[in-house]
This record gives sequence, C-alpha cells and structure tokens, in this order.
Amino acid sequence: MDIHGLCALILICAAGALLGPELPTVERYALTDAELFAAVDRDAPGMAAVLDAWGAGDAASARRLLATHFRTRTEPKWFIDHLEPHGTEAGPDERAEKALRHEFFSHGVGHTFGENISWLENPTYAPEHEFDKEWSMAFLRMPWWNDLAAGYRKTGDERYAREFVHQFLDFRAKHPICVERCRGLSSHPLKYAVPEWRTLEVGSRLSGSWMNAFHSFLQSEAFTDDAVCEMLKAFIEMSRYLLKYPSGAGEFTNNWLVFETNALYSAGVLLPEFVEAAQWRSEATDRLVAEIRRQVYPDGSQWELAPGYGAGVLRSFRRAYQIGALNNSPLPADFTNAFESMYTYLLYSSINGSMPAFNDSGHGSIAGLMADAHADYPQREDFAWAASGGNQGREPETTHVAFEYAGQYVMRSDWGPEARFMIVDAGPYGVGHQHEDNLSFELWAYGDYLVTDPGTYRYNYDSPWRQFMVSSLSHNTLAVDHLGQQRRGNTAKYASDAPLAHVWHSGDEVVYLRAVYDDGYGPGAALKVTHTRSFIFVRDRYWVIIDRATPTDDTEHLYEVLFMLAAGNAQADGDTITSTHEDGPALVIAAAPVSGQTVEIVRGQIEPVRRGWRRGGDDVEPNPTAVIAQTTAGTATFATVLYPQQPGAEPAGVGVRIVEQTPARITLAVTAPGDGETLIEEDLTQGAVTIRH
Ligand SMILES: [Zn+2]
Repeated sequence: MDIHGLCALILICAAGALLGPELPTVERYALTDAELFAAVDRDAPGMAAVLDAWGAGDAASARRLLATHFRTRTEPKWFIDHLEPHGTEAGPDERAEKALRHEFFSHGVGHTFGENISWLENPTYAPEHEFDKEWSMAFLRMPWWNDLAAGYRKTGDERYAREFVHQFLDFRAKHPICVERCRGLSSHPLKYAVPEWRTLEVGSRLSGSWMNAFHSFLQSEAFTDDAVCEMLKAFIEMSRYLLKYPSGAGEFTNNWLVFETNALYSAGVLLPEFVEAAQWRSEATDRLVAEIRRQVYPDGSQWELAPGYGAGVLRSFRRAYQIGALNNSPLPADFTNAFESMYTYLLYSSINGSMPAFNDSGHGSIAGLMADAHADYPQREDFAWAASGGNQGREPETTHVAFEYAGQYVMRSDWGPEARFMIVDAGPYGVGHQHEDNLSFELWAYGDYLVTDPGTYRYNYDSPWRQFMVSSLSHNTLAVDHLGQQRRGNTAKYASDAPLAHVWHSGDEVVYLRAVYDDGYGPGAALKVTHTRSFIFVRDRYWVIIDRATPTDDTEHLYEVLFMLAAGNAQADGDTITSTHEDGPALVIAAAPVSGQTVEIVRGQIEPVRRGWRRGGDDVEPNPTAVIAQTTAGTATFATVLYPQQPGAEPAGVGVRIVEQTPARITLAVTAPGDGETLIEEDLTQGAVTIRH
C-alpha cells in the first residue's frame, strides 16, 4: 500500500474528561485525492470523465463528477433506495433529535457529550461505575448515524445531515486509520492500542452505520462533494485494512471474522467504481464460504456455542447474502442451507421465544430471527408458526431434539403454554465466549424458568464477578472441593469434529441422556474427577438426574451438585427443596438420602467461595442456589428428582430413594403425585432406562 500523507497523531486527553490513560502513538494515514483517483477504475461506468478531469488538473471537477456519479447512480443497490424522495413525513424525529443533542445510551449507561464529541470518552471511567470497555466499542460503531439517517430520510431535516457530516469529518480528522493492525494492549483499560480501529468495529461501520449514512445523505446539500469523496476514501481505507488484517486466532476463527468479511464483501459489491473492488469481493466470498463451513455445525449451531453470538453471525452472513442477491452477485448454496439449519437450531433450542443462556449468551429473543426465517423459507410451517406467535403455519411436532455437534439436548413436553422444557449443555467448550458450564442445563415449566444459567457479566476480565460468572460455581453442575471445571486453554475440547457419542434415547415413557465430563477441575485441571450425569425425563412431566463423581485418587473430596433456582423463594427441608415464583410455577427438588449428605440453600455467599448470585440489571444480585453435598472417598452418587408444579398447585409429595446400586446399574424408587411409587432402573452397560410401577 502506498502511504503518502502519512501522519502521526497524538490524542490530547482533555483534563478532567472521562478518558483513560494516554494511548500509544501509532502511525496513521489518510488517503490523498491523488490516491483516491488512482484507485478509480477507468472502465467503470461514468469514471472516464472523472479521471479525465483529474488528469487535466481540475481536482474540483473530478471530485464533483465522482460525487455526482454516486448521488445519481441506480446501481449497485443498498438496502435503502437513495433516489427515493426524502422528507415525506413531518419532523422532528425523536431519535435523530437525541443524536443532535449528543445523548447516547449503551450497555446500560447513558452519557451526554459536550458540543464536540470526544470519541474515546467513556462514562464508565467515572468512580460510580465499574469500567466497561464495551461501552466505547458499542459507541465507536456509531449506531446513532442510523438514527440521523432514518430521521433525515423521513423528514428531510437538513440539521440531521449537517450533524452527520460534521461528526464524520471530525472523527476522520481526529482519528485517521492506523497503518498497522490495531493490537491488544492489556495494560490499558480499553485493552487495545487503537480501540477506534479494532477490526470488529471497522466491519460494523463499513457494512452498517457508515455505509447506511453514506447512501441516506446523498441527496443532502450538507453532504458536500468533498465530504462524499472523504467518505469514499474512508471506505477504501477500511476495505484495504480488512483485506490485509482478517481476524483469526489460529484455527479458531469467530464471529469477528464474519462481521469483518460481510463488510469487505459489501464494499466489494457496492464500490465497483474502484479497481480493487473485484478483489475485495472475491477474497470476501472465499472467506465467507470458508467460515460458514467452519463455524456452522451441521446441526445449525455456531461453534462458539453462545446462541446470541450464533444469531449475530447468522444475521451477518444473511446481510452479505442479501447485498449479493440485490446486486446480481449471488453467494453459493452453502449459505441458504446453513441459514435454514441455523434457524432450525434457534427455534428448537428456545423456550417461550428465548434462546438458552449458554456460554456468554443471555436469553436473547428469537422473534426477529423467526420473522427472517419465515421470510426466507415461507414453505416451513414451523417457521410460520413461530413468526406469527402461533397464528399461522403449524405448531412443531418435534419435542425431543439432540444437537449432536453442539452437544445440546432438548427435552420438551409440548409447544403449548404449559410446556415442561429442559435443555442440557453437554457439548464442547466452544471456540469463544466460553463458560465452564458442561453438563449444566436450563429448566422451564408452566410459564417460567425454574432452574437457569445465571447469565453473563460485562467483559471486565479482572473482575471477580466476571470470573465467577464464567466458572462452574455459577452453573448447574458439579463442583469438587469448591473448584470448577477447567477446559480453558485445552483447545482439544473447544470444538466438535463429529457428532458427540453421548447416550441419547427418546421413547414414549422416558427420554434418556447420559454424558461425561472428565477434563479436570481447578487450576491446571489438576484435580481429576470423572463426572457422569444422566438425565431422565419421565412421561414428559419431571426429571431424574443421576450424578456420579469418581476421582482418580483414593482421597476424600467434597462434591457439590449445584442448581441455580430461578424462583425468588426457596427453602430446604430435609432432603427436599421447594422453590416458588410468586403467582407462578414451583419446583420441588428431592434428593435421594445418602448418609452424610447435606441439602441447603445458599444465597449471596462470598466466603469461602462466591456462590448464589446471578446477573441483575447492571450488576449482580443474590440468587437462591441449591447445594447438595457429600464428602467421600471413591465414587459419590447423587440421585435427584426435579418436579415442576403448576401455579397455585398444592405442595407435591415428591421423594426418591436408591433401592439398589452396583457399578453397572442403579434402581431408584420415585414417588410423585398421582403415580404412587415408580421404579426407574438405569443400566449403564446397556445404556438403557426402564420404568416399572
Ligand atoms: Zn453461563
């Protein structure tokens, strides 16, 4: 790359502002006019006149002709039609007005900038907040330019256009792009040497807010020919940057590369006036095809196994596909096949329209995704049903589903409002956004969650809360000697290359899943204990969980089975725990009596270990957690019944005891309302469960 006009820029930190320590000085540059016109393709429609003007030394005409070409061209097409009349509605537009006032809100924290935006200012530097670098990252994607753009298209109010142009030129002057790739900088709170040019944000801007603003303001006088040319320069700079510096951590690429490559592809499709566009398009196509094959498993999950991120990747792939389809540049069938499987995964792994909160995902809504699924696959009756809130299409029939690459298993009674539902995470660690949550699960019944993942925490890796939220101690799994699972760094456990070999049977009376975790506990994964967990869903009504913990040594260990209760109230009484939602469903957890076993509720504990918390609003809040504990040498066995109850139901008499146990077999006697006593026998060698009355 030719780097004329190279400039080094020192960011001056305004005294007293919400800015962090000074960032390192890096080499930056901005394209000159000469470099802009050198990039123009003489053979592209309308470009010969531009280059003739430039060649004749008439820079002003060249800029005017180039800007006029973009203002008037009918192809390629962006998602909005920039030639459509603007200003058909009366103003003001509320969201655009907010952007005019420099009022921003992200990650739960609002901030109003002064007259001039200080681009690296972050309100969470203030002492009353815990610092959140993602506040800046979200801000630096400039999402409010979409608000100014929408407001302008709607009302034609030139104030919105002037504000956008002013902000763009201001940012461009203060923060030229860096020559080298922006690198991590662990000593700085923002964690990057040039946070405003992190590749993820470059991708987000180029295919999102910047490209959208460019097309939206082309009719405006405020968006002068010079400003249009400056933005074209920025697009070229960003595309070259993404071409040269694709994200990737060895073999484990993640959502970043998809967002970046969607942007490179968009630029390649949308800017054919520049010679390099063909290369951007072809390289991006190759990258997108490679990533959809690598990151999307045959079961439709994305290999970070954090469903919210998988959904983001789906949206990004889909946007690239759509911009290609709009402009006669179709992407291959890999895409449409993958989209259908991804929508299917999201629908069948969700409950009440919410994704499971596995890994660094929350309970994100699938509503928008199901609308997309229905639009893309109108013949799929289940997508139509999900997209219409049950008013169209047909209710899905499949209730028990194994996602064998994700290692996620769904046991659902039905698709109605009274559904009992559990999803188990028995999969690989995931290639990004991981939690140590193997063999954990979420349980929903009769209209609400009863056992849940505690959620996530802001990406403040130094915070003990972040460390807690990603640890096994905040999940519904086993802790050994107060230590959790340890797969971080064990890259062999990050991804699946074949369907997982767990025991999975789905029959009329029982659904049976058995999976094993044996990758070690605690620092260095040095504590070797094999945790075998069986889930038995009985007659679509309740679950039996059998935990076996077998250490490799012959010393005594403390084993604790943990359940994060989603209900506000919980009491332990003997071997039974009852947790209730006010006016909602309840959960009875009955543990089979074992000599020396304790059953208790822990809430908001810090010592000796943090336990009994969940994410609440912008912070954490105490949350009742069931702890069933045994201290023993050799194998510890726990048998637990999880019995959900309808709102207002009389407290149910639920019990379980171990009738007989050998290394190969266990027989349990379960008492549940209306059933009397049921014998449930698990045969480990046959991999089978039988039920007798
Ligand atoms: Zn989690």
